Amino acid sequence: MAKILCVLYPDPEKGYPPHYARDSIPVIEGYANGQTAPTPKGPLGFLPGELIGCVSGELGLRSYLEKLGHELIVTSDKDGPNSEFEKHLPDAEIVISQPFWPAYLTPERIAKAKKLKLALTAGIGSDHVDLAAAAKAGVTVAEVTGSNSISVAEHVVMMVLSLVRNYLPSHEIAVRGGWDIADCVSRSYDLEGMHFGTIAAGRIGLAVLRRLKPFGVKLHYTDPYRLKPDVEQELGLTYHENAESLIKAVDIVNLQMPLYPSTEHFIDDRMLGLMRRGTYLINTARAKLVDRDAIVRALQSGQLAGYAGDVWFPQPAPADHPWRTMPFNGMTPHISGTSLSAQTRYAAGTLEILESYFDGTPIREEYLIVKAGSLAGTGASSYKLT
Ligand code: NDP
Repeated sequence: MAKILCVLYPDPEKGYPPHYARDSIPVIEGYANGQTAPTPKGPLGFLPGELIGCVSGELGLRSYLEKLGHELIVTSDKDGPNSEFEKHLPDAEIVISQPFWPAYLTPERIAKAKKLKLALTAGIGSDHVDLAAAAKAGVTVAEVTGSNSISVAEHVVMMVLSLVRNYLPSHEIAVRGGWDIADCVSRSYDLEGMHFGTIAAGRIGLAVLRRLKPFGVKLHYTDPYRLKPDVEQELGLTYHENAESLIKAVDIVNLQMPLYPSTEHFIDDRMLGLMRRGTYLINTARAKLVDRDAIVRALQSGQLAGYAGDVWFPQPAPADHPWRTMPFNGMTPHISGTSLSAQTRYAAGTLEILESYFDGTPIREEYLIVKAGSLAGTGASSYKLT
């Protein structure tokens, strides 16, 4: 019998389940790169479109795991030495966590987790796990690659438009009963004709480029792996050998690479100084890719015209985090990858990975980040241990 320790965000303030706005969600069977959406043997322990990413939703896993005789612990109490998470960690064989409410698996915690075999990210982005320590301890790390890529890409497009067109401050004026058109439009521009660049054009970065193409934007990217010539041609892409070259050439910068030790604080005062005055910066990748206070300084000085994203450090962010109140920000809590649509896919993918684990069959290669002591699958192409 295995203990599965699952960390999820708390239930809605008004109780669970919520009143749903819609009765169904579209069925998505596959992704742009040909990968199929999750295919668990099932049955799923939830209805597609239900809120299952919070504690009471349990990712719909309880009946599957309990039928096999396993113990499922679900909690949102994840931080500090007296947390439920720390209490159960020494006996846990599997830890499931989501980037939105991450259970940080530090080297110290991995050292305490003597029985841990699998760290499973219900979503994408496993930087809350110290990958080098997991590899050293022989822990497999897997995530549900592709499950919420389009969810995030849509969020990026929304944030680009809302910053450039000054949507959020204008909405606030409308809500307050005002009609101050000059105030609304003093910072409002058209996106058409602007230069947009993404640092990393993996699953999400490429999906963002595709979605912005119809806006008449000039598209740029940099990535260690150059896209195929037909894709560059179809989207009219300008490739840059490095991020420095890209950020000097564009009006809007999108960060979409994974966080690992050498990408931490990738955007600092120096990089911000290389950008055009009035650049917009979007970050739905990870907060630690940027220097927190350098972003605040750049917004205050006008070097950045706006900053939007949904990723913070730590998560949840403290009430006095400066990004909550800095000027010209379009921040949300970490939500882009956990729409009800995304939850359906990543919960199904979590079940698929658990089925492989308990059946003793291989976990899909594209879901693997770390296996047998080193980076594997998607982890081998997208992450570094240093
Ligand atoms: P992918 O693995 O598909 O793409 C990552 C890309 O980053 C790859 O093309 C990789 O290049 C590239 N890359 C790696 N290092 C660098 C670097 N130093 N400079 C430029 N490019 C680099 O991942 P996704 O697109 O699915 O996700 C990207 C990130 O977005 C995740 O790691 C996660 O942090 C974040 N995310 C956030 C979510 C949210 O809810 N806000 C949800 C999902 C993901 P190559 O492979 O060519 O070497």
